[in-house]
Amino acid sequence: MKNEEKLRAAALSAVRKAAVVCRGVQAKLVDASTLEKKDKSPVTVADFASQAVVCSVLQEYFPDDGVVGEEDSEALRSDANSGLRGEVVAQAAIGLGRGVSEGQVLDYIDRGTADARAERYWTLDPIDGTKGFLRGQQYAIALALIENGEVEFGVLGCPNLELNGQAGALFVAARGSGAAVLDLWDDSDAAGQPIHVAQLTSTKEARFCESVESAHSDHSESAQIAQQLGITLEPFRIDSQCKYACVARDDASIYLRLPTRADYREKIWDHAAGKLVVECAGGRVTDVNGLDLDFTQGRSLERNRGIVATCGSVHDAVLAAVAAVRG
Ligand code: AMP
Ligand code: MG
Repeated sequence: MKNEEKLRAAALSAVRKAAVVCRGVQAKLVDASTLEKKDKSPVTVADFASQAVVCSVLQEYFPDDGVVGEEDSEALRSDANSGLRGEVVAQAAIGLGRGVSEGQVLDYIDRGTADARAERYWTLDPIDGTKGFLRGQQYAIALALIENGEVEFGVLGCPNLELNGQAGALFVAARGSGAAVLDLWDDSDAAGQPIHVAQLTSTKEARFCESVESAHSDHSESAQIAQQLGITLEPFRIDSQCKYACVARDDASIYLRLPTRADYREKIWDHAAGKLVVECAGGRVTDVNGLDLDFTQGRSLERNRGIVATCGSVHDAVLAAVAAVRG
């Protein structure tokens, strides 16, 4: 198998299997399956099982590659979480389509604790948009390969995002090639449909998207920026890296992520795959100051603040409005 074919086979298989787990868990979501992490963000059975499944599949194809995932198994190993642990093992087995032991599942999860300063590593958000997932709305399984600080390959599995009238879209991008959308549940069309960003000449016709959570992006600032740009359409609020997918396929032409806290640093797994999907679809992605995203700084984008992703043609105009409003 050629290198790109192998990357594609591994990443698509991993994300598709994880998506099956996430879809199943979301369908029967109950409060009992939520445990509070130290940072108070909800972590679900599906979050851990998704990471276990993706890490297991990547290990089969690329045993030497590290994975930088959002989760680790520490909380899951405690006695207090034995019930949750059992659920995670059961869900991972469903995703992998084979029996797995508790020890194997915990080890797969911890394969996701690799060094984010390595020359080559994968980064994974097993469920990006946990809040959307818990609300029964949008979320994504986001997986990207980073080599020498460049995102080389990216996949976004979006189980609730519509494609051809049905829920379930899978976005794929390889650096230097275009971006495509595939059916998430049916792998019979291997190539999928090419996607392209909006062709806009003026920001007046733009529609922008942003987080549902006002804690993740400043909604009042975005409203002022929209006004500056002459945007009249209401913002489109959607959780997770589905926002990048929406810009890439022209559901929206701008994605604004405006810092709400001076000390917050964006996480690499929240942006790597999405950024590549937008760029390969012809768009542009920077931080709010117009800087390129720097993936050489470990688990966080230490040198960046917020995100501006656009269809490209309006990027400089959007950055100017962001600067004017944010001062
Ligand atoms: P979204 O679905 O776009 O609202 O983003 C979800 C992601 O926001 C999660 O994966 C978190 O890593 C991230 N996040 C958590 N706190 C913040 C914050 N204060 N600012 C920006 N992003 C955050
Ligand atoms: Mg996330």
